[in-house]
Amino acid sequence: MSAPTLRISRSHYPVTALGPGIRLGVWVQGCPLACHGCMSRDTWDAAGGVDVAVEDLIDRWRTALADGATGLTVSGGEPLEQAGPLAEFLRRAAEVRAAVRADGAVAAAAGYGEADILLYTGYELAELDEEQLAATRYADALISGRYEAGQPTDLVWRGSANQRLRPLTELGLRRYAVSVDKHVPAPPLQLRVDESGVWVIGVPRPGTLSRIDRTLRQAGLVVDGVTWRASGKKESEVLPCPND
Ligand code: SF4
Repeated sequence: MSAPTLRISRSHYPVTALGPGIRLGVWVQGCPLACHGCMSRDTWDAAGGVDVAVEDLIDRWRTALADGATGLTVSGGEPLEQAGPLAEFLRRAAEVRAAVRADGAVAAAAGYGEADILLYTGYELAELDEEQLAATRYADALISGRYEAGQPTDLVWRGSANQRLRPLTELGLRRYAVSVDKHVPAPPLQLRVDESGVWVIGVPRPGTLSRIDRTLRQAGLVVDGVTWRASGKKESEVLPCPND
C-alpha cells in the first residue's frame, strides 16, 4: 500500500494570525465551493498545488514543535475534500504532539502547555459524510461554514459572521472557548515573502487586500496576479488568507 499523500497549496511556519500562539499552517489544495468573494482562488483547482507525503508534513510539524509551536492550523482550499489523507495527517499530528508533550512539552515554555490542532472547513457540520466527520475528530477546534461576503464580521479568525468556531476537545475548550464570540478591533495579519510571492496570512477585512494591492503598485512593485480576483494568469503574487 502506498504511503498517504495530501495535496497542498503550501505550508508556512511560524503563523501567528490563524489561531492562538505560534503555529504551523498548512493550506490544502482544491475547493469546489466557489464562495463569492473568496480570497484564495488559487487553491480551488484540485489539480494545482503539490502532493506531499503525510510523513513529510509530520516532519514539518515535528520541527515546528521542537521550535516551540503552540498549534497546527489546517486551512485551504477545502481540507475535507481529502478526508482520508487529512484524517491520517491529523491523527499522526496528534500522536506526535502527544509524544512531544510526554518529552516535556516545548510549547509549555510559551505558556500554552500543549499544542492544539485547528481545522477550517467551508462546509457546515450537517453536510459532512462519515469519512469527513471522522477527520474532524482529530481536531481540537473547528471553524466551519462558507465565506459569505454579505456578512462581514469582526469575530476573530473568521471572515463572515455565519462561520462558527467550535471547540471539540477538552484542550480545544480550554484554548478556544474564550474566542468563540471574541470580537477584535483589527484582525491579526501577517506578511510573508518567499520565492513564490508575497503571502498575506490571516483573515483580512473587506477592502484590506485591495489597499495592499494599490499600495504595492504605488510603490512601483509589479503585481502579476492576486488570488482574490479571477484571472487568466497564474495567480501567485499576493496571497491572502485561507478559507475564510
Ligand atoms: S472561502 Fe474557503 S470554502 Fe469558500 S471557496 Fe474559498 S477556499 Fe473554498
